[in-house]
Amino acid sequence: MADLKSNIAFLQEACKNPRARLDYYLKQGKKVVGCFPVYTPEELIHASDMIPMGLWGGQTQLKLAKSYLPPFACPIMQSNMELGLSGAYQGLSAVIIPVLCDTFRCMTQNWRFGVPSIPMIPIVYPQNRKSPASVDYLISEYENVLTMLTTITGKMMNEKALAETIAIYNEHNAVMREFAKVANDHLDIVTPQVRHTVMKSAFFYEKSEHTAIVREIVEELKKLPAYPFTGKKVILTGITCEPDELLNIFTENHMAVVGDDLAQEMRQYRTDTPEKGGGGLKRLALQWNSRHGCSLIYEEGKPRGKMLVNLCKENGAGGVVTCMMKFCDPEEYDQPYFEADLREAGYPYLTIEIDQQNTSYEQIRTRIQTFSEMI
Ligand code: SF4
Repeated sequence: MADLKSNIAFLQEACKNPRARLDYYLKQGKKVVGCFPVYTPEELIHASDMIPMGLWGGQTQLKLAKSYLPPFACPIMQSNMELGLSGAYQGLSAVIIPVLCDTFRCMTQNWRFGVPSIPMIPIVYPQNRKSPASVDYLISEYENVLTMLTTITGKMMNEKALAETIAIYNEHNAVMREFAKVANDHLDIVTPQVRHTVMKSAFFYEKSEHTAIVREIVEELKKLPAYPFTGKKVILTGITCEPDELLNIFTENHMAVVGDDLAQEMRQYRTDTPEKGGGGLKRLALQWNSRHGCSLIYEEGKPRGKMLVNLCKENGAGGVVTCMMKFCDPEEYDQPYFEADLREAGYPYLTIEIDQQNTSYEQIRTRIQTFSEMI
């Protein structure tokens, strides 16, 4: 069992160098499948005895991607394309791209032609989730993914393996939710950057390995006395809030992140796959139908704003920071709705632009500093 500092350091290293994690699994003779964000059915890869690994872009100079994507494509897809074209993802047996927005739609075609050495598996999620046909449709999409994964492994995933995988993923969700709760009593140790590291690192580990590390972190935190944090507390919403330079601005201004609705973080972990309701594929489809409060999923009444208000109330946050991924249409469409709910409930909000290629944070620093004085 490693101590608290060492465990956090392991996860920090994984986020800094995901390539090392890929090489680690390849050296073990494992096959690894890249998962474009978000809601890629990692369980199908895991149950097929392969390692799912998240592809969340990163800071890289955009050169080759410019031949494939317009300048107004979001930075995550720009950098994923660049990293694919430059060979940084070599070793992956395939990538899965969930078609959840127009940019993803372009990515499926661009990847197929730009990076032919890594096969691409698309999956389209149903948006009319009220129709019973949505479950049958999604099961058929999962079956298509499995057929393509079979061409890599040479054998078909079985029901028992999928049931075990679903249990592993639900257990991981529970540990991540517990971490988010316990972290709020230790905001001296779990700074915004550390919180983000624990959340994001899950994409670079086999899930039961990550569960074991985070469980140790939670147990070590619980042994410590609660820290009386006197600064300002906020909730983050959006696709991602990174890199570390940006997160450290919150710490500089004596602000803590006490909850989030980020696609890269708690949106992944807040909805379990039901334990009953049919075979594994059906239960995964039912999980999709239970996901909520996300810009990538159609929902009547747009409940995200009320969900953010509740997150503020439950965690004692003074306001919400919208981390607006540059050129992300789905998030931009949602923003006026949830901001109206926050306004009505009396919670202040701030929008900052997230661009992975950004190297200067002075404007954001000023905005966050000003916001800290408002809440
Ligand atoms: S949802 Fe937003 S961040 Fe994700 S691929 Fe689409 S435009 Fe990019």
